[in-house]
Amino acid sequence: MLDIAPYLIAPGAAADLDGRDPGSKQGFGGGKVEGKAALRPLNVTLDDLQTRLWAESSQRLLVVLQAMDTGGKDGTIRSVFKGVNPQGVRVWGFGVPTPDELAHDYLWRVHKLTPENGAITIFNRSHYEDVLVVRVKGLVPEERWRKRYDHIARFEELLDDEGTTIVKLFLHISRDEQRERLQARLDEPDKRWKFSMGDLETRAEWDGYMAAYEEAISRTTTEHAPWYVVPADRKWYRNLVVSSILVETLQRMNPQYPDADPELDGVVVE
Ligand code: AMP
Ligand code: MG
Repeated sequence: MLDIAPYLIAPGAAADLDGRDPGSKQGFGGGKVEGKAALRPLNVTLDDLQTRLWAESSQRLLVVLQAMDTGGKDGTIRSVFKGVNPQGVRVWGFGVPTPDELAHDYLWRVHKLTPENGAITIFNRSHYEDVLVVRVKGLVPEERWRKRYDHIARFEELLDDEGTTIVKLFLHISRDEQRERLQARLDEPDKRWKFSMGDLETRAEWDGYMAAYEEAISRTTTEHAPWYVVPADRKWYRNLVVSSILVETLQRMNPQYPDADPELDGVVVE
């Protein structure tokens, strides 16, 4: 397992996205081949921990995944959860709000999809869009979205108080890497479905998004709902970091199989 400490943003600290290298593979000796090999035992450990969490059925884990377009949210889910029993793992994507969603406060659509006992829920985008795209595109006035940092911190505190462990991951890619990945989506027919013209508009606002991420992460990283900034230009390294974070988080949760019922000792099935 990797040392994930360098990627944790401590409460009160700045995310310092500018000072972090998205291409880092910090101290990992090998390259892609070794990196992929190192992921396999982590997949097995994650599967074991998820089975225990499901069997125990009294704690829950929420994983918030945020990234710029092509940042690797989908690929991370696919690779990190390989071999994990899909039962008990939920993935929810948050896109442009529907009219019904817009007719409510911004946490309404989010709260009802948080995990139940025993479950791991992954948010592919999340309530953070309401201080990211909403801020950059000016979808609501600043005096309204500014208050949301505090709402979000308190909302996450409520989830934690009621038994939900939260871990938040920003997959940090460079602007150059995004250009290559977007171009690949245009050039390779099988990838075109992932491309939308809006991605270019979003890319044009890169600096605005980085400023929005910087503030969102810095203001909402807490003891109970920490942010990690994951170097994500190398997919294999990104997977290793994310898997290590999830394994460490679940090991801390320490889920246990329920006590075996002693009355069942010696029962023989005819
Ligand atoms: P994708 O992840 O490629 O399916 O794209 C989803 C799109 O929905 C992204 O462009 C997000 O910025 C957008 N989106 C998600 N949440 C919100 C929100 N609360 N308000 C406006 N746009 C959003
Ligand atoms: Mg997209």
